[in-house]
Amino acid sequence: MVNNSKNVPYYAFGEGSLAGLGTLLAERAKSRGGRCIFFVDHFFQGRSLVRDLPVEEGDTLFFVSTVDEPTTDGINEYYSAITAKYHELPSAIVGIGGGCTLDTAKAVSNLLTNGGKAEDYQGWDLVKVPGVYKVGVPTISGTGAESSRTCVLTNRRKNLKLGMNSEHTIFDQLILDPALPVTVPRNQYFYTGMDTYIHCIESLNGSHRHAVGDSFSREALALSREVFGSADMQNRANVERLMVASYLGGCAIANSYVGVVHPLSAGLSTVLKIHHGLANCLVMNVMEDFYPKETDEFHRYMEDQGVDLPSGVTGNLDDDGFARLYESTIIHEKPLVNALGAEYRAILTRERASEIFRRI
Ligand code: NAD
Ligand code: ZN
Repeated sequence: MVNNSKNVPYYAFGEGSLAGLGTLLAERAKSRGGRCIFFVDHFFQGRSLVRDLPVEEGDTLFFVSTVDEPTTDGINEYYSAITAKYHELPSAIVGIGGGCTLDTAKAVSNLLTNGGKAEDYQGWDLVKVPGVYKVGVPTISGTGAESSRTCVLTNRRKNLKLGMNSEHTIFDQLILDPALPVTVPRNQYFYTGMDTYIHCIESLNGSHRHAVGDSFSREALALSREVFGSADMQNRANVERLMVASYLGGCAIANSYVGVVHPLSAGLSTVLKIHHGLANCLVMNVMEDFYPKETDEFHRYMEDQGVDLPSGVTGNLDDDGFARLYESTIIHEKPLVNALGAEYRAILTRERASEIFRRI
C-alpha cells in the first residue's frame, strides 16, 4: 500500500484575487456545461461581496447558516434540492466562508457524484469517485478546511462528529484573498485562528510523524506565533499571515493526526453544540498536564490580545451529560493513540476526562 499524499492543485493568492473567480468559472462552464452552485456564509447576505459575485442566470446561491455546524441531514437536504432542480451535474461548486461553509461545499460536491447519503461517507477513504469541481474561498482563517482532505459533519443520530476523509474531498481550486477576513470579530478571529496553532502543536507532539507534515506544521506554527505574539493580531499583515498559516496547517493535517485537544473539543461540540474554534480554546485553556509549555503560551496570547472565554460551560451537566462527553471524546482513537499511545484509555480515564470537563 502506497501512502500517497495530495494537496490542493491550484491556488490564487493575494488581495483582490476574488475578482478572478468569474474567469475561472466561465472557463469551466465552457468546457463542461452545467450551472454553478454557490454556498456563501450568511454573514455576507446583503453585502457587496455577494453583489459582485459572478452568478449567472440559472445558477443557484445558498446562504449557509453558521448557527449550527454542518450536519449530515443538512447536506442531504442540499443534495435533494440540487438534484430536484437540475438534470445535469453542476459545472462547479463554490464555497465562500469559514469552515462550516467550506465543509458544506466539499460534502455536497462529493455527494452529487457518489450518491446515497452524506453519512455513508463519514470515515476514511469511503468516497469512491471525484466530486464536482469545487472552488474554496476562505473568509476567516484557522481551520485549514480550505486545504485539508476532510469535511467535518455532525451525525446527530449517531452522536458522532466525523469527516469524509478522502483525497476527493480536497478542493480543486482555492482563492486566498486576504481582503476577505478583515470583518471578522475579534474573539472569533482568535478562536478560529487558534485552530491552526492547536493542530500544529498536537501534530508536532504526537508519535505519528511525517517529515513533510512536520515541515508544514512548523511553518504554520511559526506564522501563528508571529500573529498572536504581536501587538495587534488583526492588522493587515497579520490577517495575510494567518491566511497562509491556515492554508499550510490544512496541508499538514493530511500527513498527521491531532492529539488530546481535538477529541475533548469534539466532545464539547457534539454534546453541547459549542463551535469548533471556541471548543478548542476552552480545552486548550486547561491543558497544563498534557501540553504545559503550549498552555502557558496560549494564556499569554489570550491576555495580550484581550480575548476572553466563557466560563462554567459544563456547569449544568448531570452525570449522564458527563458520560456522553466522555463517550464522544474517547471514540477518537487515532488522535488519542497519536498523543498518548495504545493504552490511551488508561491515561485519559473517565474520571480524568470528567475532571478536565468540570474545569471548563
Ligand atoms: P464558521 O464557519 O462557523 O465561521 C465562524 C464565524 O465567523 C461564523 O459566525 C461566520 O458567519 C463568521 N464569519 C466568517 N467569515 C467572516 C467574515 N469575513 N467577516 C465576519 N464574519 C465572518 O467557523 P470556523 O471556525 O471557520 O469553522 C468551524 C467549522 O470547521 C466546524 O464545523 C469544524 O468542525 C470545521 N473544521 C473543518 C476542518 C477541515 O479540515 N475540514 C478543520 C477544522 C475544523
Ligand atoms: Zn481543528
